[in-house]
Amino acid sequence: MNDYIEKGISVLKTLEENGYQAYFVGGFVRDYLLGIDSGDIDITTDATPDAVSNIFARVKETGKKYGTVTVLLDDFSYEVTTFRTDGVYLDSRHPQDIEYANTLLEDLKRRDFTINAIVMDKNQVIHDYFDCGADLKRKLIRTIGNPVERFNEDSLRILRAFRFMSKLGFALDLETKAAIEKERGKIATISIERVMVELDKIFRGDYWNMAVKSMIETGVAQQLYGLEKGLVYLQDKQIKLMPLEVFMICFILDDIHDIWRFSNKHKNLIIQVIELHEVTKEDIFNQFIVFVNGLEVCLMTNKINVILGYPDQEKHIRELDANLPIKDVCDLVFKGQDILWLTPLKKKSVIGVIIDDIKYNVIMGTLPNEYEALKEFAFQRIKELNIEMGEQNE
Ligand code: ATP
Ligand code: MG
Repeated sequence: MNDYIEKGISVLKTLEENGYQAYFVGGFVRDYLLGIDSGDIDITTDATPDAVSNIFARVKETGKKYGTVTVLLDDFSYEVTTFRTDGVYLDSRHPQDIEYANTLLEDLKRRDFTINAIVMDKNQVIHDYFDCGADLKRKLIRTIGNPVERFNEDSLRILRAFRFMSKLGFALDLETKAAIEKERGKIATISIERVMVELDKIFRGDYWNMAVKSMIETGVAQQLYGLEKGLVYLQDKQIKLMPLEVFMICFILDDIHDIWRFSNKHKNLIIQVIELHEVTKEDIFNQFIVFVNGLEVCLMTNKINVILGYPDQEKHIRELDANLPIKDVCDLVFKGQDILWLTPLKKKSVIGVIIDDIKYNVIMGTLPNEYEALKEFAFQRIKELNIEMGEQNE
């Protein structure tokens, strides 16, 4: 037993010593029974968040509104949620108000899928009230209770179904599948941030092809602003992609849909790769492209080019990168400063143009990175630019 589980059991014991019930629940128990490594441990208890806060020394009020606090023990953390029944859902996402439940059974009934409603006690004994273990054995994703009602209450559960399919390779129970087909339009009511969290998990899973195929088949992919074409194209590609790469391919095959929210860094990367794809899909990468965009971005673009059926230039890109005459503009032996010292030229924009010319020629190998050669080239360019730009030299 690892430390994380052992400390988790001590959390269960502490809660019981204080007169409460407490169990491991959800993904941890499911993954434990499947013999796979799990992420976080979730604990369900009849202690209220305030009671939990009073019992443990270090508690973070992470989701107190929804009955959840995080107990910190050494380097570990445990999400502890009070037994609850969800109240009325107004926006098919957030329960209008949560009501605490008196019994574990009531709490388990509000959970999304049978495979997520098995609990484990402090002695590592499993308690399975709805014969959930059978679905685990049959590798089935089935809602607890009437699927249409459950998806109506919270349409995020539709995407969660594909998240578990992608992670575990499980199929949809037929009734659950029919309900997804019926209720898929409600996905539009979920905030785009929540959708992206689920898509990120769907695209990262080992069985992402299976999940993507099923999302297409059930019409869920249609609800994902501009992603359907890309997902249809990718569904049979046996290649591991980062979620961002999936989005890039979808945007290339359709359009960039501004509804999707990315950090500025990711947004810029998406635009850079799409532009570079346009330049390189049918043309060869050159030294200057590799210098300006960097090896990583060029390789990512090449990967996308290849997936989209264009020639593989990986070897060529790596060779270009390894043989770049300079790695950084600072490596140029002749700089803007040299122009200032050697000539009366002061206009920064003109100096910039000359240095850019020098940089381009050195990187492309048409000029050696040697002081005298670059100085001569600069003087020649100054002459030409004086003619072109007339009085710009001040
Ligand atoms: P993972 O391994 O990906 O963390 P998980 O099953 O632990 O999967 P969480 O999102 O961590 O998923 O949620 C923990 C548990 O809370 C779930 O197993 C499920 O029982 C319950 N749950 C979470 N979200 C919902 C929801 N939208 N509706 C009903 N129950 C939910
Ligand atoms: Mg979890």
